[in-house]
Amino acid sequence: MAREMRQTAGLGMTSLRTRSRMVERLRAKGIRDERVLAAIGAVPRHLFVEEALASRAYEDIALPIGFGQTISQPYVVARMLELLLVNREPKNVLEVGTGCGYQAAVLASLFPQVHSIERIKALLERARANLLGLRLANLRLAHGDGYAGLEKAAPFHSIVVAAAAPRVPDTLLQQLAPGGRMVLPLKANGGAQRLVLFERNGRGFLESELDPVRFVPMEVGKA
Ligand code: SAH
Repeated sequence: MAREMRQTAGLGMTSLRTRSRMVERLRAKGIRDERVLAAIGAVPRHLFVEEALASRAYEDIALPIGFGQTISQPYVVARMLELLLVNREPKNVLEVGTGCGYQAAVLASLFPQVHSIERIKALLERARANLLGLRLANLRLAHGDGYAGLEKAAPFHSIVVAAAAPRVPDTLLQQLAPGGRMVLPLKANGGAQRLVLFERNGRGFLESELDPVRFVPMEVGKA
């Protein structure tokens, strides 16, 4: 009931115009993949933040979602997903760090099978509630520590990590399918973060360092 009222109250913000303005801004910032732009245009981001912040949901910024965490900036979500799609059509995808569930919803509108893990139980429950109305039958959420990955659903064609680790988690690399890609923020010396792309080939992993970014830290263990 509360959610229905909220959706009605949010009608102005869900209007195609508001969302397509955000998509145009992402295009202007250099996002080219039409599949990614369409998926971002399809997900009502205001449903994933507190009502008091809903009016800012279509700005290209990160916003607080409680528990000291944030909803990722749309540009960064778009950039990471674009990297996973270059010359590929990933089928089975893992997200580490569900948070409020926003990126999980974007992933589920792009890929056939999506798993997402979150270490904070209460946040995962909130994500579940946020996602309920979107009826994404191809999205599975799990409470767990992303450092361990999700063995039972591996291997993955793509892995996207939404929290910054001090070094690449080896277990996640091992859960990549041959030819698979993982994109994640890594902390460099001095604490600055960069997006790093790993690609599994016949001999091992190819690593490329990309844009500077700012993510919340990847923590160890469940909470
Ligand atoms: N994907 C979210 C971003 C959430 S912020 C979005 O769409 O906006 C990053 C999330 O990673 C936080 O919710 C945090 O609790 C979670 N996280 C941090 N370390 C983790 C770990 N080891 N395993 C799983 N989730 C983790």
